[in-house]
Amino acid sequence: MLNSWVVAPTCLPLVLRRCHTCASERFRANGKFRVNAHHKLIDAWLLVLCTGCGETAKLTVLERMNVRSVRPELLDRLHANDLGLTAELLQDPVLRRRNHIALDWAGAWRLDTGESDHLDREVIDISVRFAAPIPVRPVRLIAEGCRLSRAEVERLIAEGKLVSAVRLSGKLSSDFTFTLKR
Ligand SMILES: [Zn+2]
Repeated sequence: MLNSWVVAPTCLPLVLRRCHTCASERFRANGKFRVNAHHKLIDAWLLVLCTGCGETAKLTVLERMNVRSVRPELLDRLHANDLGLTAELLQDPVLRRRNHIALDWAGAWRLDTGESDHLDREVIDISVRFAAPIPVRPVRLIAEGCRLSRAEVERLIAEGKLVSAVRLSGKLSSDFTFTLKR
């Protein structure tokens, strides 16, 4: 019997970037964009605010793009300060590389395990789906979802009672399955 868990965002992640005003390292996106059109060229930024001092920083979304080459739907969403677009852009590795930022997902996601009566079974197969590419430790997820301590999860892995095709140590941010035998 296969059970499904979902790792889902609960809010926007923080943006890791050093503030030049107060040396804080975290910024919060509030879903606002700035768009500048000059002749046929357009620039667009995602605005983020320092969590320490409130200073605004701009993350480049579009840089000197010919306005005709930008999808009208994207322009509409930029002008509407679309919160969903903010979430999509922060999850885009190209935007993160271009702006030299990383994300802090601490406290910004939850694990949905659905019905939990399956935990009594001798063998359970669980597929974990990521609704967003959130880097989390499988050991922590499994401990939370199966109501075990992390030490117990580590022991089950060492004893070969908790197995997966992926490495369960370290962090993962994409779908995986695991089997727990007791
Ligand atoms: Zn600051």
